[in-house]
Order: sequence, then C-alpha cells, then structure tokens
Amino acid sequence: MNLETIDNLIARIGMYNPNILDLFMIKKAYHFAVEKHSGQKRLSGGDYIEHPLAVAFILAGIYADADTICAALLHDVIEDTDVTKEEIEAKFNKTIAALVDGSTKISKMNFSSRDDSIIGNQKKILMAIEQDVRIIIIKLADRLHNTRTMDFQSEGKQKEKSIENFEIYIPMAYHLGIYSIKRELADLSFKYLKPEIFSSIKKDLEDVKRMADSTVKEMLGNLNNTLKSSGIPHSIEARIKSIYNVYKYVMAGKGLDEIHDLIALKVMTQNVKDCYYAMGLIHEQYHPLNGRIKDFIALPKTNLYQSLHTTVFGPNDRLIQCQIRTDEMHKVANSGITYHWFRNGETANMDMQKELKEKYQFFKSLMQLYNYSYNDIDFVVRAKEEILTNKIYVYTYKGEIIELPVGSTAVDFAYKISDNVGNKMEAVIINNSYASFDTELHNHDIVKIIINPYLDGPKMQWTNFAKTSLARRKIREFHEEK
Ligand code: MN
Repeated sequence: MNLETIDNLIARIGMYNPNILDLFMIKKAYHFAVEKHSGQKRLSGGDYIEHPLAVAFILAGIYADADTICAALLHDVIEDTDVTKEEIEAKFNKTIAALVDGSTKISKMNFSSRDDSIIGNQKKILMAIEQDVRIIIIKLADRLHNTRTMDFQSEGKQKEKSIENFEIYIPMAYHLGIYSIKRELADLSFKYLKPEIFSSIKKDLEDVKRMADSTVKEMLGNLNNTLKSSGIPHSIEARIKSIYNVYKYVMAGKGLDEIHDLIALKVMTQNVKDCYYAMGLIHEQYHPLNGRIKDFIALPKTNLYQSLHTTVFGPNDRLIQCQIRTDEMHKVANSGITYHWFRNGETANMDMQKELKEKYQFFKSLMQLYNYSYNDIDFVVRAKEEILTNKIYVYTYKGEIIELPVGSTAVDFAYKISDNVGNKMEAVIINNSYASFDTELHNHDIVKIIINPYLDGPKMQWTNFAKTSLARRKIREFHEEK
C-alpha cells in the first residue's frame, strides 16, 4: 500500500516528469500549504493537509503538469487561510495563482438563495472551460476525493452531492476522456444514492468474477501465446464492468449473462498496425459476435477515446469483449485530456488548450449553448439536458461524428453543422433513404442534408420538433429578422 506522503507524491510524478525544478516547486507548494493549513482538521478528524495532498495524488495519476499539481496542493489556501492570490503569484507563478483563484471562485457560495447558489456555481464550473480547463480538472479531482471521504457527511448532503456528481462532474469527466475519474466517481455516487442495489450488484459481480475466473485465465493464456508467436509485443489486462455501468443494463431489463462486455480483456500493443493484426488473430481463434465490432481507432469517440472493440465467444462459450489499443491510447483512455497535454509538451499553456478545444466537441457545444442562452438558469438547465447527459452519436456522410441530445431530429443535425445548412435544408437522407424532417435520429445513423440555396428559409413549425435550443433559436431568429 502506497501511503499518501509528499515523498511518494514526488516519486510518482518523477516517473513521468523528472524535471528537478518542477519537483522542487511541488515540494515548496506542499510545505507552504502545510504551514498555512496547520491546526485545521477535516470532518474525518485528520489533518486538513491530507485533502489537498490526496487531490494532488489523483492528478499525478492522470499525468497532470507541475502547475496543476501545485495549484491542487494550494487549492484551498485562499478560501480557508489568509493567503492572497498576489502572494501565490509572488511565491510561485502567475499560472498557479490563476488556477488557485479560479478553483476558489468556483467553490465560493455568495448568492442570495440556495437554488441561485447551486445554479451560479454550476455555471461557473461549466464556464471555467473559457478560462483554463485545468481549473475543471482540479475541481474533478477535488470532488473525487471529497466523495471518497463523504461518509463523514450527513445523509442529505451525501445524496445531494451524489446527484450533482451525476448531473455535472461524471459527464464532464467523460467528455474530457478521463475514464479513471469517471468510473470511480460514478460507482461512489451510485453507492450513496442506492446502497442496497449497489451491494447486490457488487455481490453478483464478485460471483461472476469467481465463476469466470478459469475461463478468463484460459483465454488470456491463449491470447498471450498467439500474439507472442506472431511477434506482436503486447500486454493484457482483464477487467470487469463497473457496478454503475452494470446497473444501467439491469435497469434496461437485462440479466448479467446478457451483458456482452461484462468481462473484457484489454490488449495493449505498441502500434496501430499491430492492433488490427491482433484483432484478426483473435477472430481466427474465437468467433466474433455479429454487430459488436467497433473501430474507434479510425473513428475516435468525441472525447478522443480510441480502441478496437470486439465481443467474441470465449472458452466455454462465455462472451468476452476484447479491447485492443496501443499503449498510448490506453493512457488516453485513463487520463484523457491531461495525457494529451503531457504528450504534446511540458505545460498545458493556453495556446495548446485552444488547439485541443477545437478537437473536443464538448467545448464547442458548451460555448454555442452559452451564446444562445437567455440567462444563467437557462444555460445550466440546457447544458445538463442537452450536453451533459443522454447523447446520441450520428455520422455525416463523410464519416464525421456529430454528438446530439437524445430525441434530436434532422433539423438539430443541420444547425449543428452550420446556420446555412439549417436555413437552406431541402431534403434529408438517413441511412440511404429519404426521411421527413421530424424523424428522430438514432445512434450511428448516417445523415445527409440536401440544401437548396434558393430556399426561402426554415419553417417556423420546425421548432415543434427541434430538440436543441440552438436549432430553435436559429429558426426563430430567421423569422424575426424578416
Ligand atoms: Mn477542496
């Protein structure tokens, strides 16, 4: 068991960032925080410093840069001690001061009513993407540690925080591609919201794990041999689906034996070519389940997740999913956006963030929505409804993936592409057939919009079946301008 001490933190960070000056600054931030928080206790009775240190550990696990780690260690000093932003800037640097200040502003509650404060706070979290995305990343780690230690809170608070985790933080972790945080936060929050179902699924999963153990070992051994004799350097890990993700299937009426990816083997190779080669070899040995082959390498998810997925009939006819990806893609899957920064340079400066924001659809959607919202409440409510939860993924005929809320129609799709496509839409082709404009889109539909530049514009009645506020607003705007 690795104790969460500053020496262990430095050792862990040193493995991916051996820069002595960075490590020195992190130590300095730790000692400064120890001094400033001295005497303060957590609800658990432990010294307060345990909390920022734990947050820094979570961030070290996802390749966060030195400024982010320092800001994590200092994230509560402005709020809870007499330290000012200026002092942090003088002692450390401008970026760290801005990150600590940003984190403080998010958690400050200075609104007149409770509802206002919740909405106001959630808006700040969402809009932190406009400043420095690292503020959100620190907040995610902060929230994860607070949720881990929530046993010391009242039951009401536990439930309230867990709901907020599902509404805001878990979807955000997903959109930023940080699956390690998403998975743990979802299971913890689910446990607080539905303790009985949580423990019953947990127990069922342990049973499955025990019963499938020999099958998994057999297949793992076979794959190791096959890949080795074909000269593919690799490593393999077995994993069982998370409790909350199993719950979603159970809610949809499925039994545990009907979940095709309950048990998965993750195969990590050194390059993309070997991923495809390995999948071919797996299919030679184990029959694939029809329709369950997904190529997220050629078509990455909108959060930039990449992997090949295939479910096969393993030994004893047990369904086993294989996820095949390179070591790099595996790190992206765990750590998301922070690993991209780490890979691309030493620090996640604003220029690099700008570049990455273009790549993640989440940022674009959030900014679009912000620009078309009437007020804060409208923005937060719609962000939750349209961006943070329940999405479908459809394709343009060029193969580009477009993310839309569940219930979206071709009209939403068209405006998501551009104002002009929406305004000049004449016909819609969904999966090679003409369709009416109000047809609800489904996952993996291929959508083509035919435009006619001579058209007069969108019909007002389209607002009846446009799901996104973007499309509705654009249609109304067109008619108001006339
Ligand atoms: Mn905190």
